[in-house]
Amino acid sequence: MTECRLCGEIIHFSDNIVSERTGKKIPLSEGSDESHRCAEWEAQHRKYYNCNDCGAEIYFDDRHLSKNGKHIPLSKSTGGPHECGDRAA
Ligand SMILES: [Zn+2]
Ligand SMILES: [Zn+2]
Repeated sequence: MTECRLCGEIIHFSDNIVSERTGKKIPLSEGSDESHRCAEWEAQHRKYYNCNDCGAEIYFDDRHLSKNGKHIPLSKSTGGPHECGDRAA
């Protein structure tokens, strides 16, 4: 059994499932062939941006899409959707 060294979840590897980019085996979630979506890893590799309106730090996450498929800006401080409060009046 292998644990993700970042989040501690049980992961496994499959000879058949390798990264197209690097050719390395990719970590998979326990009991499935779906790639392990590691919140810790994402947090460490996340890019932050500054909101054009209020300057707060925001980021985008593939799991947070609006109905039309666009990324929803998320607040770095809360992890929830960015509520732009300081928009210039
Ligand atoms: Zn993990
Ligand atoms: Zn804002």
